[in-house]
Amino acid sequence: MSSTSPDTYFAGLRCLRCGRIYQPGTVDYVCSCRPNSGSDLGHLDAFYHYDAVSTIRTTLSDSSGSSNTSMGAAFSQFTTRTIERWWPLLPVAPDSLPPLPVGDTPLLRADRLADALGLRCLYIKDDGRNPSGSLKDRASAIAVARARETGRDVVATASTGNAAAALAAMSAAAAHASVIFVPRSAPQAKIAQLLVYGSQVLAVDGSYDDAFDLCVHACSEFGWYNRNTGYNPFMTEGKKTVSFEIAAQLAEAKAAAGNMETNSPNAPFVSPDSVFVPVGDGSIIGGVYKGFRELKRLGWSDRVPRIFGVQSTASAAIHNAWRDDLEVPLAVTAGTAADSISVNEPRDAAKALRAVRASGGAFLLVEDESILQAILPLARLGGVFAEPAGATALAGLQEAVHQDLIDPGETVVVISTGSGLKDVPAAMRIVGEPEVIPPSLDAVAESLKM
Ligand SMILES: *Cc1c(COP(=O)(O)O)cnc(C)c1O
Ligand SMILES: [Zn+2]
Repeated sequence: MSSTSPDTYFAGLRCLRCGRIYQPGTVDYVCSCRPNSGSDLGHLDAFYHYDAVSTIRTTLSDSSGSSNTSMGAAFSQFTTRTIERWWPLLPVAPDSLPPLPVGDTPLLRADRLADALGLRCLYIKDDGRNPSGSLKDRASAIAVARARETGRDVVATASTGNAAAALAAMSAAAAHASVIFVPRSAPQAKIAQLLVYGSQVLAVDGSYDDAFDLCVHACSEFGWYNRNTGYNPFMTEGKKTVSFEIAAQLAEAKAAAGNMETNSPNAPFVSPDSVFVPVGDGSIIGGVYKGFRELKRLGWSDRVPRIFGVQSTASAAIHNAWRDDLEVPLAVTAGTAADSISVNEPRDAAKALRAVRASGGAFLLVEDESILQAILPLARLGGVFAEPAGATALAGLQEAVHQDLIDPGETVVVISTGSGLKDVPAAMRIVGEPEVIPPSLDAVAESLKM
């Protein structure tokens, strides 16, 4: 394994279970305290030379002679606004990232949706606008970069959905070989993206868990780099960039609205009060928390928002662990229509539970029917067509408002994690088929009367 490139502030990895610290380049995936225990692994958490990173901004604002650092200007010297912009807080060098525009997705102010919910300030982070259509691109870009930096010719993962599609896209962009293990039962629509991007797709005659384990063994046998969720610690590092963007975009929005006094020069990022995240394995929510936590740690924002994790009642393993005060969730038999959050045995529960507990948030449960119905206001009032898992965040906000967990004056962000075009049949289930008419004006007039 080659050492980390010098142009990074990446300082090492710490085990969430036993606290052991690993220097950069001395470990790939999980801690040796529990290297092989199903989903209850020794998960690792990257850390950085935060004091050194925090001086980047100071130096910048000193030399610019301006105290106006409205947009989280720490990284404004980088011309790109994609995730590359955050390289001092990433474990890979910016040059290693695949040449696709990952991140920089819109943060949309949703006033009509806010009105409908009795809130004043609501935003939708539309992460379906990533190159392969989901937030997973943020993580897969890091996986490919890391594979390149450590000289592994093949990057592999086990997944049935967006993580694999993202890896296929990022690998193709970087001209890097990829092998993807899917359970044989995976829906064909999900496999299409993988094959189109040119990954080698292996359909395993078994469950997702079988595919996961086979991927782990194949990577160690053949020297491939493993992107598996809840196993590769760097996936959190990609996912946290969504929080950096949200806080930078809120700062820009406040500056544009003339509220400069709210942007302290010492805290140039603006964190929202509450953030809603759909949860399956728990990896995204862990990353969302870590991003906001790092901004606070650097002194660049004044708070960590309350993080709300939203699960379907038909896939509630992490919610149940939170409710019952367990450290390790009990497996469930998941069967939600929101396939991206349908998880029997969550792989990143430790980080997910930490996110909610440490931020003073909560887990919320919503019925599948509410999830599917939430697709409509998200699109009609918010302008975003989300896949069911993405709309789950809004269904969770509806539930939180119902439970009186949100103050009407809060700034709330809903993360829409994936595009509606990922799952057209789910959308058709709630809107039905269009009316068929003959090609005549009479028929149009007749129809409109009804
Ligand atoms: C993967 C995924 C999720 C859930 O993320 P986890 O890290 O598994 O909790 C939610 N929405 C979409 C669109 C996803 O692809
Ligand atoms: Zn450990």
